[in-house]
Amino acid sequence: MRIGLRFLKDARQASVLNQAAAVNVSLHGSLALTGVGHGTDKAVILGLLGFEPETAHPDEADAAVARVKTDRRISLANGPVVPFDPAKDIELRGDVVPELHPNEMILRILDNDGGSIFEQVYYSVGGGFIATRKQLEKPSDNDMIARPRRSPYPFSSAKELLEICRDQNANVHDIILKNEDALRPRADTESRLDQIWSAMRDCIERGLHTSGELPGGLSVQRRAQSLYSKLQETPLANEREQLFDWLNVYAMAVNEENAAGGRVVTAPTNGAAGIIPAVIKHYCDTDDMRIDHIRIFLAAAAGIGMLYKQRASISGAEMGCQGEVGVACSMAAAGLASVWGATPSQVERAAEIGMEHNLGLTCDPVKGLVQIPCIERNAIGAVKAVNAARLAMRSAENPKVSLDQVIETMRQTGLDMSRKYKETSEGGLAVNVVEC
Ligand code: SF4
Repeated sequence: MRIGLRFLKDARQASVLNQAAAVNVSLHGSLALTGVGHGTDKAVILGLLGFEPETAHPDEADAAVARVKTDRRISLANGPVVPFDPAKDIELRGDVVPELHPNEMILRILDNDGGSIFEQVYYSVGGGFIATRKQLEKPSDNDMIARPRRSPYPFSSAKELLEICRDQNANVHDIILKNEDALRPRADTESRLDQIWSAMRDCIERGLHTSGELPGGLSVQRRAQSLYSKLQETPLANEREQLFDWLNVYAMAVNEENAAGGRVVTAPTNGAAGIIPAVIKHYCDTDDMRIDHIRIFLAAAAGIGMLYKQRASISGAEMGCQGEVGVACSMAAAGLASVWGATPSQVERAAEIGMEHNLGLTCDPVKGLVQIPCIERNAIGAVKAVNAARLAMRSAENPKVSLDQVIETMRQTGLDMSRKYKETSEGGLAVNVVEC
């Protein structure tokens, strides 16, 4: 969606948008192989129509896409209306293996004769981030997320982050928030964090109250609603294992919403969107809820996410599922440990444990849909995150493995991983589960 929007903006700036007689979209690599299952075709139509991820209402978005398919025309945002048949004008070229990044997209503006008058290449690099070819070929210093231009405490490794925490006598979330203070007033950052939590909470609520079959043809039934009903009938603390049930139901509620094309918060990606909300919901959104705990959780989790984004990748197409569910687990473990009052080194250890036991996790979604194994995998990831935070709080000083080492291990494992297991649906469960 962001690439569609960005393309039209670039075309406007180049003064060619109003000359458009048609547009053409070509998806390459992983973006094509799981394009339909992941809803990429729908997303690019919405971007071309001018929808934005933060504000697009799922029902309105579905209706708009349906209209384009029926009318075979598209009203380009701030541009002309042109003929557009998604079945023909969005090409899924899974046979093209891009060199720079496995999620490549080329968009073109065509003239009346079908000739290309404007062409741009973009990449979807994970977690809603996009990049042009130029940006990927030569990332500027300012692309380093943890080093914003005016950041008072720049860091590019967990080691550096821990040193800053020690020197400033501050926690991980304090440092992240102080860096954000250089970009905007603290109240604005807090308001934005509250909006993020509000979107996560709304998503959980929708998932807990919606039943039926998920789209895509796998006949997967939503389970969160019935599990939630059963849990509400069961007296609290009756079973020790209820902790699992609650984490499971919240995570599945979010990932069922994602699978249905609903609105989720990328945390750090859509496929792994259930883990952080599930852990926050269970541990922070209680009767005596403190909004500052949720802000602490999100800030600490974001700090850890920055390290993965900067030192490796959060794209399943590059790293497999370790880069999505593994990173979300690591971020959630750090967030929860922070809320529990962990020291910076305990927060680092929680994040390390959260990833260490997800190393090698492949991405093999059945039929390219973000359903099997993704929905249950988020439930398992949420439980694992809590255990990682717990282990970190209880473990001795001087751990043998550092967060920097585990991030580097994830990166190397991702590079070594066969392409079949990196969001292509050409291996693993995707080829061993019979579709019915
Ligand atoms: S298997 Fe993991 S990385 Fe792949 S689509 Fe599912 S959640 Fe995303």
